[in-house]
Amino acid sequence: MSVFEHIDGDGYEQVVFCSDDQSGLRAIVAIHSTALGPALGGTRFYPYPTEEEALVDVLRLARGMTYKAAAAGLDLGGGKAVIIGDPKRHKTEELLRAYGRYVETLGGRYITAEDVGTALGDMDVVRRESRWVTGCSHTWGGSGDPSPVTAYGVMQGIKACALEVFGNPNLSGLSVAIQGVGKVGHALCGYLVKEGAKVTVGDIDVDNLARAVSDHGVESVPLAELHKLEVDILAPCALGGLINDDTISELRCKVIAGAANNQLASDEHGDKLRDLGILYAPDFVINAGGLINVEDELRGYERERAMARVEGIYRQLQNIFALSRERDLSTARAAMEYAEDRIRKVSRIRLVRTSEFGPTSAH
Ligand code: NAD
Repeated sequence: MSVFEHIDGDGYEQVVFCSDDQSGLRAIVAIHSTALGPALGGTRFYPYPTEEEALVDVLRLARGMTYKAAAAGLDLGGGKAVIIGDPKRHKTEELLRAYGRYVETLGGRYITAEDVGTALGDMDVVRRESRWVTGCSHTWGGSGDPSPVTAYGVMQGIKACALEVFGNPNLSGLSVAIQGVGKVGHALCGYLVKEGAKVTVGDIDVDNLARAVSDHGVESVPLAELHKLEVDILAPCALGGLINDDTISELRCKVIAGAANNQLASDEHGDKLRDLGILYAPDFVINAGGLINVEDELRGYERERAMARVEGIYRQLQNIFALSRERDLSTARAAMEYAEDRIRKVSRIRLVRTSEFGPTSAH
């Protein structure tokens, strides 16, 4: 399939292929939309078996960022980048700086950050060649690892779900099963235990599992059992696709609310959850804390302000639940509609400011 066949129809603005022979850099930057502001999204460093798989992934992720930023009420568009290669073997200073040069050439239409396969320190290196980087380490005046902030936002979202389903946002005594206790899941576990929730965890990584159990005194169960537990809340915090044709009939929870991206295998699974009476917190709404945090860095980071803004996820989910009732839609579809509506309305206003538009003026 040609590149144009991939991007036609979904409104992508720009796809940039970057190559630097000497460092071995092969990257793709996808800008889905700058309708609300510069396209912000992380750089994924991953050994894609084929270029086509890399392209499909970067396009899907960039589009997702448009929705996430719009639903979070940010003046940001959606973009993403992938670097093709094994981060353990191919990541070098030379390659990251070569990549930074390409990011710089986009003049702020795309702002990068860390993602799977890249870390804070890598963003510090990219930043030596480009101003358009966020999520840098504290050493360089950045906001540091966004994961604990994402977890804080997820907890706010879980409280909104508790209010919706149990009539009270208090988490004390509620049972929560967390799938995946990596950076976000581990921090979420801590927050929930502190709130008095009864937490059970599962992970494929035995070290991460052991750390969660010993740090937070929670129980663990075999992974195959986790999503079948009769709990109040299931929190997917590993990879996407937990809610699929095989698992959906096995769910015994009342709420699904977690950090993982792309939790639903398809939009239809969101409809099915609604039919089953399970409240789903749309992933790109509840997990926006990290994005809000790195956006705050562009304004001159203030942690207290960032955390206060992340608390807005609670209210935002309430809005989505209300919209879902009003339009008789799944919460997932309601969140998409909300984002599209905001892009339509606000981008019209922002167009007037095109001449002064861009991160240098906006932030
Ligand atoms: P991470 O890699 O630190 O943690 C993921 C954890 O999931 C690891 O412990 C891993 O062993 C485990 N895992 C992987 N596959 C699993 C499986 N099949 N079953 C059970 N456990 C499995 O990643 P993270 O930064 O904690 O992110 C978790 C999820 O949240 C991802 O989907 C990520 O895209 C999403 N997310 C993260 C952030 C952030 O700020 N880090 C922001 C938004 C969304």
